[in-house]
Amino acid sequence: VLRTGEEYVNAIRHRNKVEVYVMGKEVKDVTEHPFLKPSVLAFKATYDAAHEEDSKSLGRAWSSFINEEVNRFTHIHRSPEDLSAKVKLLRKISHKTGACFQRCVGWDALNTIYVTSRLMAERGKKEYYERFVEYLKYVQKNDIALAGAMTDVKGVRTLRPNEQPHAYLRVTQVTKDGIYVSGAKANITGIAASEEIIVMPTRAMSEKDKDFAVAFSIPLDTEGIKVIIGRQVNDGRRLEDGEIDGLPYRTNHEGLVIFDNVFVPMERVFMLGDWQMSGILVEIFSSYHRQGYGGCKSGLGDVIIGAAYNLAKQIGVEKAPHIQNKLNEMVLLNENMYGSGIAASLDAVKLCEDGCWWVNPMFANVTKQLVTRFPYEITKFSTDIAGGIIGTAPSEWDLKNPKLKPYIEKYLQGMMDYSTEDRLRMVRLLENIGFSVAFLIESVHGAGSPEAQRIAINRVYDYEYAEKIAKYLSQIEKRIEFKENAEPWRRTDTEKLANN
Ligand code: SF4
Ligand code: FE
Repeated sequence: VLRTGEEYVNAIRHRNKVEVYVMGKEVKDVTEHPFLKPSVLAFKATYDAAHEEDSKSLGRAWSSFINEEVNRFTHIHRSPEDLSAKVKLLRKISHKTGACFQRCVGWDALNTIYVTSRLMAERGKKEYYERFVEYLKYVQKNDIALAGAMTDVKGVRTLRPNEQPHAYLRVTQVTKDGIYVSGAKANITGIAASEEIIVMPTRAMSEKDKDFAVAFSIPLDTEGIKVIIGRQVNDGRRLEDGEIDGLPYRTNHEGLVIFDNVFVPMERVFMLGDWQMSGILVEIFSSYHRQGYGGCKSGLGDVIIGAAYNLAKQIGVEKAPHIQNKLNEMVLLNENMYGSGIAASLDAVKLCEDGCWWVNPMFANVTKQLVTRFPYEITKFSTDIAGGIIGTAPSEWDLKNPKLKPYIEKYLQGMMDYSTEDRLRMVRLLENIGFSVAFLIESVHGAGSPEAQRIAINRVYDYEYAEKIAKYLSQIEKRIEFKENAEPWRRTDTEKLANN
């Protein structure tokens, strides 16, 4: 079924009890809790997108697994065009939410497990792939809301998992029916708004770490799972009950997910002790997720560009050459992020015979590396254009106080086409998105911190070959054997992945 947004919200409202904490207190209903409701609304947009006229062609896809149309957020990419539709869809939903809508991690996890279980099947271990395809059909048929959980808490970074077992999620017992796991996953986006979690290992493992090489899926309402929601900048505004200061009233959340001796039935286990595959799984997942950032972050960039342009109009400076230059810079930065995401999609890599389309790892990593920098630049330009008011504007409660309203209206008025309330609304929108976790902090650390992309880029780029070209053109070497492909990259294929 293609669920509507309402159906999704009802499903998580009426699910079994989940153990979620916000600011020390247990949450009764995630869909009504003021701290989490904005997150549910952003997540909901991924369901609505499959029904709304302007987005349904991007928001749906045909599944050959169940022979039905499915929400694209549960789809296994079948072509480079599918991958680029993902980036486009994310840009679009950013426009509808002004937030991170959280469902992409679970989607990337689905595609990652599909590819890795497929690669394991090709090497003779078929059970994971068979189980996963059954699970995938269930997810697609029911349009399940998935979170993806990769990042372990990691403790002392120089110690391996087996040297500090509590810092990585691990298998504590294997029975014929399933496995028991303990540990914690950190920074899990959208967790409280999800119905199920796909858990994956966070790094390459050695043989000694094989108890940590585990992937599975589990419903959030399973006994032994506890979620502690993290705080965000300006999060107190959600509790204020206003309608201007908290704009856009949709946002994301992240949580620390604790697994206290949780039982996972065997049919939900997609990797168990396969330590050699752990690093490959991480690499596949991170490139998928890094590609996506080119879509969602450029979508938020559009909102910020639009807000800055409007604020310039509100004070009558939109035609000033320096304002136009700044707006133009913002567009260049934004389209760079998007363009890289699209390139990562269209220059995709086929990892198995009947599909398994993986993003181009160079462009995916470049995309995410740009995303660690450009949103800060875009926010800086928008701050510059908006003026100091972005840091000093009175609250909506001042505007609503009859004693203060006439003064605020008089002294903060700009061009007469706009009211002072318009100005405050736009300032708040810009502030809440431009300085949000979704646009800044997540842009740095989501899908792996900046250094992780540099390492990946270095692995793909062939400096030796670039040097050979230079040596040939400087005639230090008289001969060169040119490669067939134009880019001096080591083209990734399954073998290369396996050797990493
Ligand atoms: Fe999706 Fe972007 Fe949020 Fe990741 S950061 S979950 S890609 S919207
Ligand atoms: Fe993310």
